[in-house]
Amino acid sequence: MIACEQIEKRFPGPGGGVTALSDVTLTVDRGEFVVVKGPSGCGKSTLLLAMGGMQRPSAGRVTLDGVDLYAQSANERNRVRAERIGFVFQLFHLLPFLTVRENVLAGLPPGSRIGDHVAHANELIEQLGLGERASHRPGTLSAGERQRVALARALVKHPALILADEPTGNLDPANAAEVFRHLATFQRAGGTVVVVTHGDDAARYATRTVCLSRGRLVPASSDSANPPRSPSTSSLAAS
Ligand code: ADP
Ligand code: MG
Repeated sequence: MIACEQIEKRFPGPGGGVTALSDVTLTVDRGEFVVVKGPSGCGKSTLLLAMGGMQRPSAGRVTLDGVDLYAQSANERNRVRAERIGFVFQLFHLLPFLTVRENVLAGLPPGSRIGDHVAHANELIEQLGLGERASHRPGTLSAGERQRVALARALVKHPALILADEPTGNLDPANAAEVFRHLATFQRAGGTVVVVTHGDDAARYATRTVCLSRGRLVPASSDSANPPRSPSTSSLAAS
């Protein structure tokens, strides 16, 4: 479905700049729910942006169904992204002056005939428990409701792939679990999901978890991905 082949991302800057990703190779097959786990600053968002065609790697390739995303023109890449990839962000990125229904419909690719998609949008709004909120603006919704609007916006175009960047970072555990359950429903229906997160809460929904540490994929058991407990905690546990 989507593959990163030895991708590297360097940001130029003082002192040689920052290498955010080094030699990252990751293949995600159709129907997988992959969780990429790692601490803040390890390169998760950079990886997701590269996979979504939104940030060109400094080296390596990203392919979507075998097509090299960054060998395409920017227009073609934008079209593929708009039609096939749904994004979900930690801070929702809803448009405050649009209603819930309008925000959901804003997820359609440019040029879509909105009228053809209203029924599907309404269906998603119902499924996500937002039926009574369809005409409300995001400012009046809870964080959990806002993220469900963002999920509906990602789903309205029938994407092949959903890329989610810490989608539950601003939610309490109950709302976080609900978001993951909806992502899992999409995956069980044949969709492909990649979630990046620093937490553990996504692991139980994953078909596979990979760890990112300082811009590199590392084995799940690596010390740098799972730092050892502090001496005081260990001694408490041992006593
Ligand atoms: P994460 O999402 O895991 O917290 P990021 O992918 O946002 O990490 O960032 C990885 C590293 O790359 C960090 O050191 C960050 O400061 C750096 N970085 C990210 N984006 C940029 C940018 N546009 N310019 C310079 N440095 C960046
Ligand atoms: Mg990030």
